Amino acid sequence: MSRPCVFFDRDGIVNESPGPGYVERVADFKLVPAFFDALRVVRDRGYAAVIVTNQRGVGRGLMSRATLDAIHAVLRAACAERGCPLLAIYDCTANDNTDPRRKPNPGMLLQAAREHDLDLSRSWMIGDNEKDVQAGQRAGCRTILVHLQPSVTSADHVLPAMEKLPPLLEKVLANAKTLD
Ligand SMILES: [Mg+2]
Repeated sequence: MSRPCVFFDRDGIVNESPGPGYVERVADFKLVPAFFDALRVVRDRGYAAVIVTNQRGVGRGLMSRATLDAIHAVLRAACAERGCPLLAIYDCTANDNTDPRRKPNPGMLLQAAREHDLDLSRSWMIGDNEKDVQAGQRAGCRTILVHLQPSVTSADHVLPAMEKLPPLLEKVLANAKTLD
């Protein structure tokens, strides 16, 4: 039986946004405490947790693949330490908006569903950019946008800050442990 999943964008959701640039050093990767509270709700409801992140800085030669992998090792360890291991982290380093894996294209979510038997129709995508919302919707997921002042959005829910995410997830996530 396919499992539902909560997909998280990375920058601005999992860690503090680097603004228009990229997190280019492990030391600049600052985790957002409310992300872990959200992750606990996801785990307790029986959903998988997956990160899907565009990291064009690698494709543009501004940072190395090794640095990106080191940052993601820190992230994996931080989640596991809290008893909430991530199922997977997918990144797209392509510097090409037509790449099918680069959000707003849904390729990373579709790949995750294929590789981990996830039920996209019962899954959610959470991000701080409309590209995340679009990727989630193209994959058939419901969506949450975390943004203080969104312009036009087609997200199912809009929150002004990450602190509001755990209580919303408690409301909207079914108990996947009993759905099967
Ligand atoms: Mg982001």
